Amino acid sequence: MKMLRFLCFAALTLLAACKQESATTTAPPDPKADPHSFAQPNLAVAKHLELNLKVDFDQKILTGTAAWTIENPGKVNEIIFDTDNLDIQKITIGKDEKEATYFLVAPDSVLGSALRVEIEPTTPKGQTDLVTIYYSTKPDAAALGWMEPSMTFGKKLPFLFTQGQAILTRSWIPCQDSPGNRFTYNANIEVPVGMMAVMSAENPQQTSPDGKYSFKMDKPIAPYLVALAVGDIAFKPISERTGVYAEPAMLDNVAWEFADMEKMVKTAESLYGPYEWGRFDVIVLPSGFPFGGMENPKLTFATPTVVTGDRSLVSLVAHELAHSWSGNLVTNATWNDFWMNEGFTVYFERRIMEAIYGKEYTEMLAQLEYWELLEEVESMGENNPDSHLKGNLAGRNPDDGVGNIAYQKGSLFLVMLEQLTDLPKWDAFLKSWFDTNKFTSKTTEDFLDFLKENYLKKYNVTANVDEWVYGPGLPANLPKPVSSKLANAEKAAQNIANALPDTTGWTPHEWVHFVRSLPANSDAATLKKLDAQFKLTTSGNAEIRYSWYDVAIRRGYVKEILPAVDAFLVKVGRRRFLMPVYTALKETGHVQDARRIFEKAKGGYHAVSRNSIEELLK
Ligand SMILES: [Zn+2]
Repeated sequence: MKMLRFLCFAALTLLAACKQESATTTAPPDPKADPHSFAQPNLAVAKHLELNLKVDFDQKILTGTAAWTIENPGKVNEIIFDTDNLDIQKITIGKDEKEATYFLVAPDSVLGSALRVEIEPTTPKGQTDLVTIYYSTKPDAAALGWMEPSMTFGKKLPFLFTQGQAILTRSWIPCQDSPGNRFTYNANIEVPVGMMAVMSAENPQQTSPDGKYSFKMDKPIAPYLVALAVGDIAFKPISERTGVYAEPAMLDNVAWEFADMEKMVKTAESLYGPYEWGRFDVIVLPSGFPFGGMENPKLTFATPTVVTGDRSLVSLVAHELAHSWSGNLVTNATWNDFWMNEGFTVYFERRIMEAIYGKEYTEMLAQLEYWELLEEVESMGENNPDSHLKGNLAGRNPDDGVGNIAYQKGSLFLVMLEQLTDLPKWDAFLKSWFDTNKFTSKTTEDFLDFLKENYLKKYNVTANVDEWVYGPGLPANLPKPVSSKLANAEKAAQNIANALPDTTGWTPHEWVHFVRSLPANSDAATLKKLDAQFKLTTSGNAEIRYSWYDVAIRRGYVKEILPAVDAFLVKVGRRRFLMPVYTALKETGHVQDARRIFEKAKGGYHAVSRNSIEELLK
């Protein structure tokens, strides 16, 4: 997942989904068990899913069956699934569908409800090998984003997308919802005629005439990676094995923006071995998708705000592609090991970007995110246990672990290790980590053992590994990224009262840093002059635009730009861009304007964005 504001989505929707009375349910006794799942897969485990669902846009529900092929190594008489806010109608066991006894435990406010199903450990015919659950989702299921037609690009048909990470899949599929439990799946999905369904699986490239679609994922994946999108969707190939899905009216722009996808896959393969998933496609969702991107296998889900018209935000695609190795191929065993998904991926993303777009470009990305890390550690306190790489999220929502620690401290840990030897040795080590452990889920400790044996000992080098992984704050040997391009942009901003800068060849990253570095005392007249020269108010890049609006509004340059701010807030749905602009308006005495614009725009926002702004403007 590309970080961004997913945290807030999960927190808000979980709250909404868990209004039933909360009750305690004892966690599994296995000390190595995932604290965020009730399942006990060491005893009885679900290995393959046959999913049959009908998508009902009127009622905003999915209805059908989840049939699980199970194994019972513990010879126990029950199997436990995770559920959250599901309407369970009936459960059967075996191919002859014998009705089963089951018990849905009262919900825990974070984890949802354990579903305990009685199975037969030994019968003359053998063990129970199939459990079929008949169920429906609820309209407020935490994983499901139902978009009204007004929230789509085409404005004609509604749209549905799912978001499984971290523990939301249980709100649309009863499953053993721990990233340590992998399974394969097939699915039959029925949608209204005229719409297309796509999943994290082998996908159609054309709309089916009867609204029925079949899917196959024959590689074992973690539950949070099962994903579905339904809407007015069309496909366009980029290369033999890469392509894009989007609403038809934006398809060509999306294909242009992501033209380098094949190059990225080849680069990634040259670093860490073959791409194991067959196709790599990206679907661009409606602007109501309130996150950056999600690395669903074979089909990355992405925000439309990366389609900038200048290919300046394609690092998001590199990030989600990198997850095809770190995250999807080798998966964090629990959410306490989340840094292994994200730290590896940020590191890997930079290597891909550097190989394709050069060192200077990548230095800018690293520098910007390094500053974000410093800010976050400062605001959380450097002794805060949440600054450990290895998380301790038991009893809390695992999305509390989403932040710069897992992403940036995690990535800099790998940079530090890389610098102990040289790139060929380090790359060979990483490649062997992925190759040795592919299609498995691993703990932090599994990685550290592998690191000691196959890198530190092998090359006779040492590192303060425990301090990095189990210690707070930022170790003294933290590598510090530096970008001379950003330093120049900053200098230009500080000199703005004297001279307009020479911006020839500037990337959006330099622009954003320049805008954010404008002195607090620069006046409206200076900003107006700047705007007249560089057209910042109407920039096609949303990152530049929201940064500029935030800075300009706070320096009193408001009246002239308000119509453009208005249009921007109506068009864009991503919370990351909306909140700073609404906040700037509110804090500078323009709350009436903010409310007026919000009233007009809110029909196009996802609930995540809408709720946050409503709260802000109260
Ligand atoms: Zn990620």
